[in-house]
Amino acid sequence: MIFLKSDEEIELLRISNIIVAKTLAEMAKIIAPGVSTEQLNKVAHEFIRDQGAVPGFLGYSGFPKSICTSVNEQVVHGIPSDKVILEDGDIVSVDCGAYINGFHGDSAYTFCVGNVKPEIIDLLRVTKESLYKGIEQAQEGKRLGDLGNAVQNYCEKRGFSVVREMIGHGVGRNLHEAPEVPNYGRRGNGMMLKAGMTIAIEPMINLGSRNLVFEKDGWTTRTLDRKPSAHFEHSVAVRRGKADILSSFEYIEQVLGNNAI
Ligand code: MG
Ligand code: MG
Repeated sequence: MIFLKSDEEIELLRISNIIVAKTLAEMAKIIAPGVSTEQLNKVAHEFIRDQGAVPGFLGYSGFPKSICTSVNEQVVHGIPSDKVILEDGDIVSVDCGAYINGFHGDSAYTFCVGNVKPEIIDLLRVTKESLYKGIEQAQEGKRLGDLGNAVQNYCEKRGFSVVREMIGHGVGRNLHEAPEVPNYGRRGNGMMLKAGMTIAIEPMINLGSRNLVFEKDGWTTRTLDRKPSAHFEHSVAVRRGKADILSSFEYIEQVLGNNAI
């Protein structure tokens, strides 16, 4: 069942997503070599609570933390830990949710830690650009296959591979709603998008092969070949003629300045 949102509901979703955007900017301020992913979790948790919101991921299907932190070959759903210390040259995807006024925000950004190899920076840049290629298709009358195809085509043409097992989703009163939003597909295929649908688009793109492994912790996914994976996510409202991006990377990129990818 797909819940179409009214304009008022979309504005509430924007509020939730702006809290997520500002939380990710707090991450941008502190991510550095020597910082543990649990430190990131603590800062995010406190910041979300200070905004009067609830961390949307904490306790979701039993997830134990307030953000997901996925380092290097980890694709998504990494669990913050005191034992995971960021090192120079790492990348870390931070996926964050905030719940307020009955609606969930959901957005993710992959950050560089210190000096990252150019080929990995290229992976991050292409993944982020592919997200916007997908968003361009998130308008009334396009199909989910158009969206997935735009992401897939953009990344594969540049030599990267698209994760299949994990995909985007509808977002609203529930963190995960219908429809499923794959980052691959065929143009003209799949469900037609309607104004008022709100979806989280989140390409997960690998430097090497697309194959994944699920770690024994029951959450973390990583690449089979242990090459790096990048992840960027926006929550978006489908509109007539143009997508409406509800989350934002502007706060992050103000913090990163010239170091933004
Ligand atoms: Mg997310
Ligand atoms: Mg999501």
